[in-house]
Amino acid sequence: MASPRASPASQAANKVFTRVDLDGHALPPSPAPSSPYPDRRRYALATELVYTESKDQYGASSIPIYQSATFKQTSANGGNEYDYTRSGNPTRTHLERHLAKIMNATRVLAVGSGMGALDVITRLLKPGDEVITGDDLYGGTNRLLTYLKNNQGVIVHHVDTTNADCVKDVISSKTAMVLLETPTNPLIKIVDIPTIARAAHEVNPKALVVVDNTMLSPMLSNPLDLGADIVYESGTKYLSGHHDIMAGVIACNDPELGDKMYFTINATGCGLSPNDSFLLMRGVKTLAIRMEKQQANAQQIAEFLESHGFRVRYPGLKSHPQYDLHWSMARGAGAVLSFETGDVALSERIVEAARLWGISVSFGCVNSLISMPCRMSHASIDAKTRKERQMPEDIIRLCVGIEDVNDLIEDLSRALVQAGAVTLTLDGFHANHVDADGVTPSA
Ligand SMILES: *Cc1c(COP(=O)(O)O)cnc(C)c1O
Repeated sequence: MASPRASPASQAANKVFTRVDLDGHALPPSPAPSSPYPDRRRYALATELVYTESKDQYGASSIPIYQSATFKQTSANGGNEYDYTRSGNPTRTHLERHLAKIMNATRVLAVGSGMGALDVITRLLKPGDEVITGDDLYGGTNRLLTYLKNNQGVIVHHVDTTNADCVKDVISSKTAMVLLETPTNPLIKIVDIPTIARAAHEVNPKALVVVDNTMLSPMLSNPLDLGADIVYESGTKYLSGHHDIMAGVIACNDPELGDKMYFTINATGCGLSPNDSFLLMRGVKTLAIRMEKQQANAQQIAEFLESHGFRVRYPGLKSHPQYDLHWSMARGAGAVLSFETGDVALSERIVEAARLWGISVSFGCVNSLISMPCRMSHASIDAKTRKERQMPEDIIRLCVGIEDVNDLIEDLSRALVQAGAVTLTLDGFHANHVDADGVTPSA
């Protein structure tokens, strides 16, 4: 694994270390980088997530919130590491350096939301540039790309990225960006990042392969190690874990690319606020323990639904058609799964009958959530397009939290019975409805 090299910013931090205050005390930079010794031993991810070495001047164990818009300068020419929070803030810097370590990147930038991150990334594009992306994208991603197509002269090709050959067919010297998301959501299809990245770089070495890693988080996958040039994630999801902030993070290894994206953040003012940087830092520390519990729960729930005759989409199930591909790129299956009931009204009744499962968009929270993507998160994709992309209107998405798994399964069973989706017999539940393939599932 690549160890983060000292960035120009951390060199600057070392420089200011020799500053003295008005009483002549040497002032340490406050805070220092999260991992100040690039050559030190790398621990396992669960350890790195909680391990920070802040040289705070008072030894604070948790990063202080520098709730300040401006920073006083020591000379009339300015030149101190921080001057204005739009350009940089110590709490944000600490978070960014901590995330760089976790995401195997040399540079991480933290912004106000996942869509804010994609906005910064797509500002690398010029009119006439071509983007190749998927046909089962996060709704907000679809909306931003449509805006760029209609207003900025960017050409967008939506193809089935879960088939690398479909991508290869449209790659050309004009391909400026390949934007991938895996697993897709809610269809939970897998995209072969290494094969597509290699193919794009062969035809155009300057093409940027960008991966939205929100569904897996750095706990389960590091797309920069799989050939991606830029990785971004919604920090609103697993990274923070409690649905109490919006955030977005961008990671890369090319310093020039990092500087270009930092320019946009400084120019537009979308950097993450000090308070939210603090909260995201706190959330990241428990990523491993949350994700382990969430995906263990998800696995049991997926097996429960599959054993009762529902068509379940989850890469933790051997029945997933791209099981091997997923596990060649990831260390776990994540905690989002979807299943079909065969009937839209029935799906609605199930969602509404659930009590423990909150009806909500989004995922990655400690609480379990249930939703109908075609009615909620993906409603901004029109019905015709949803149909073209073979999105079943009855699909139910489950985003599994950290509750007791037996309580979750019991609540789901009750909702299935109440909605009339299953019949209770002496030997258990049986799904009543035909699935999307028109086959009556056997229990
Ligand atoms: C939520 C999400 C986003 C957008 O992130 P926000 O923080 O809501 O702006 C992007 N991609 C995926 C896969 C997401 O789930």
